[in-house]
Amino acid sequence: MNRKICIVGGGPAGLSCALWVKYLGLSPIILEKHSRLGGLQHTNSFQNTWYMGIPGKNGQAFIQDFIRHAEAETLPTLLNASPQKITQSGDDFHITVGRTEILAKALVICTGQHIRRYDHVQEIAGSEVLKDSPQVCFNPGSTPLQVPYVAGQHVAIIGGGDNGLATAALMASTADHIHLIVRSEIRGFGLYKQWVMDGIQSGKITLHQPAHIQRFETKGDQIGITLWNGDRNPVTLPVDFICFRLGLSPNVKAIDTSLQNSGIGRLALTPSGYIKTDEFCRTSIPRIYAAGDVANQRDPCVATAVAQGTIAARSLEADLRSRCWRFS
Ligand SMILES: Cc1cc2nc3c(=O)[nH]c(=O)nc-3n(C[C@H](O)[C@H](O)[C@H](O)COP(=O)(O)OP(=O)(O)OC[C@H]3O[C@@H](n4cnc5c(N)ncnc54)[C@H](O)[C@@H]3O)c2cc1C
Repeated sequence: MNRKICIVGGGPAGLSCALWVKYLGLSPIILEKHSRLGGLQHTNSFQNTWYMGIPGKNGQAFIQDFIRHAEAETLPTLLNASPQKITQSGDDFHITVGRTEILAKALVICTGQHIRRYDHVQEIAGSEVLKDSPQVCFNPGSTPLQVPYVAGQHVAIIGGGDNGLATAALMASTADHIHLIVRSEIRGFGLYKQWVMDGIQSGKITLHQPAHIQRFETKGDQIGITLWNGDRNPVTLPVDFICFRLGLSPNVKAIDTSLQNSGIGRLALTPSGYIKTDEFCRTSIPRIYAAGDVANQRDPCVATAVAQGTIAARSLEADLRSRCWRFS
């Protein structure tokens, strides 16, 4: 019998799933669209303080341990590989990747999320001044590297989630002043909120909330950000550096389109576009599972991704034995 299980995405969820699939006696194959395994943690130069057992390690060093583990276990992997076409005949999925066709009994979607970047703000007037500018940063994971760079500068941080608050708190230690611009409400972790409140009290951080950005423009060596808060005249803040912390979106579209085009079905998604699963990581399509951030808008982190990768592997193995594929 074909015992192959195709895992799309080689971040923490996909690697954990592949490891368990191997030990459960099936044959994993990981398809990773980038040239290296590891996923989002490659962008993270923060210390990974949320994961027990690795004090002092940043995300980039931490993910190297995952990659070493995958190599030691010789988990079969295709890099620079995404499914181009997925069809189904009988009990098998046929997954086309370049000239290779993979026959798999089940598919596990572990494609994670991507950081929202320029596309997300390009509708705002004057946004072209931001494009490729060295005064603009979209990657929250690079914040620790930028803390020395913003010394003595006026910095705007746009976004009130975990990453916006962490960036504001860290950069307040070196920047001359921080403008934290939040469209609606602050949503970040309680501890980060406290750090920001301390910065506001000390006069180092100004919170603009609720604030809508009307336009960007060049102002000498600085970038002007015009804000409107609904009841007063717009104000323009001239700043030296802007950090966009706009959140993340799930990587679903490519695979969902493939599944629909081949008539296999449409994945049930949440209103924000994340894959809906049951508690066993089953999606709405029989023999297709999803694990990690792509199916977990509420609690995305390495620990939950690893856990869901494990659950998906164990579920599909049990389902394969009992031939029970239904979404419950
Ligand atoms: C700045 C930042 C800091 C963070 N800090 C922490 C932290 O300190 N601690 C913590 O626990 N979590 C942290 N996180 C969250 C953590 O990185 C994620 O929760 C975790 O990486 C999710 O793992 P995943 O495998 O679900 O997805 P990802 O890590 O996103 O991996 C998904 C993989 O799928 C691949 N892929 C996508 N689409 C396709 C496709 N069509 N075909 C093939 N491959 C595809 C991607 O290239 C990627 O390699 C942080 C996130 C960010 C952005």
